[in-house]
Amino acid sequence: MNYIKEQNGKLWLTEDERENLKISYRIKEIIYSERSPFQHVMILDSYDFGRMLVLDGVVQTTSIDGHIYNEMIAHVPLSLHPSPKKVLIIGGGDCGAAREVAKYEEVEEIHLVEIDELVVRACKEHLPEVSGNLSDPRVQYIYKDGVQFVKDRVNTYDVIIIDSSDPIGPAQVLFEYDFYKSVHEALKEDGMMVCQSQSPIFHMDVLKQTYANIRHLFPHVHVYTATVPTYPGGLWSFTLGGKQPISFERLNTFSKQTKYANADVLNQCFHLPQFMKEHLQS
Ligand code: SAM
Repeated sequence: MNYIKEQNGKLWLTEDERENLKISYRIKEIIYSERSPFQHVMILDSYDFGRMLVLDGVVQTTSIDGHIYNEMIAHVPLSLHPSPKKVLIIGGGDCGAAREVAKYEEVEEIHLVEIDELVVRACKEHLPEVSGNLSDPRVQYIYKDGVQFVKDRVNTYDVIIIDSSDPIGPAQVLFEYDFYKSVHEALKEDGMMVCQSQSPIFHMDVLKQTYANIRHLFPHVHVYTATVPTYPGGLWSFTLGGKQPISFERLNTFSKQTKYANADVLNQCFHLPQFMKEHLQS
């Protein structure tokens, strides 16, 4: 618990997983704090970002900016796929991505495979701004390791969303080549996957490796970005892999009720800054 400290009567959460950069948030109240077999799960109420989910001292999602990440990880693949009926979300225990996927009437089943049941319980109860108290009957909660779960599924899903935490602890395996290979096999012939591929500013090595892994398996790969204030560096990357060519014109008819995503944002998110283009080409 040494990431929460009191200083001059004020409570601060300090993310200190980086050697030379420590980001601190002033906290109003610790709403929930429990240790699961996988990690320390907290819901904190902060001054600037409202309630937030914190795992092992690292902010995962907040009431103020969680929708940016969740809309971008869900609406890009869902609006690009010609007929998304069966969707798998790996990780995503805050339920925010599932909430966005549930906006598609054509989706018949949403399998949310989260290793840690405590994250789902905590977010449903204490973080409704992100989870939306999701109670859609199409969502099936499966509390398993995503790597093991996806191994047994062949030719099953239209869209797979990998909504993982950082590549440390239980999520490390979700960034490895063998896992993406199972994801590729679990997708149908016109299937599409997306994963969060970390900060282009601070984790270019992870982004490059993820891009290389996915390019090795999928013939059509596109990286896109969004700005999420609570993630280090703000600028965040996502990598999309498709088994079939992707028709971007579909984005022009996007019309879901959202706070961040719209047809303009979805179209422009694929235009990468120069340094990213250069790194990904090298
Ligand atoms: N939006 C967040 C971000 O980018 O920081 C991530 C959201 S979500 C809370 C990440 C979830 O992945 C966590 O709840 C964690 O328990 C889950 N997770 C980590 N490793 C996993 C694994 N191997 N299988 C399934 N879920 C996993």
